[in-house]
Amino acid sequence: MKPSPYGPCGLFCGACGADDCDGCLSERIDEYVRQCRFRVCTRNKGLDFCCHCEDYPCSDLAAFMGDKWPHHWTMEPNLEFIRSQGVAQWLEAQRREWLCPKCGAEIVWYQKQCPCGQELDAFEVPE
Ligand code: SF4
Ligand code: SF4
Ligand SMILES: [Zn+2]
Repeated sequence: MKPSPYGPCGLFCGACGADDCDGCLSERIDEYVRQCRFRVCTRNKGLDFCCHCEDYPCSDLAAFMGDKWPHHWTMEPNLEFIRSQGVAQWLEAQRREWLCPKCGAEIVWYQKQCPCGQELDAFEVPE
């Protein structure tokens, strides 16, 4: 699991397969993450999550949450969960959700198969 398991946009970094990043709020991030408008905006507003913003969902965030990337479609339900039940419960639920149903290993968004052999119900990479 990544040291920083989520972003303020509601993405669960714990299920992101990028090896060169320790999660949105960690020290080890790439240039894209460093400059991400949602990360910068929440930081400037002193907010933990976009769902606590009075402008939520702003048009930029709404467009991003509905673009072609299936993992972005998790953001809106994630933010609603965080708003209603809090971050601790959400993280617990996410940690459980992103496990192989057969062996319990951690899995990531676009992973088709677990090393144990189990086929996974993964997102499809868009064209
Ligand atoms: S989209 Fe931006 S705020 Fe969300 S996890 Fe990625 S870098 Fe962080
Ligand atoms: S929802 Fe609010 S905090 Fe999040 S990116 Fe939009 S304006 Fe910034
Ligand atoms: Zn497995």
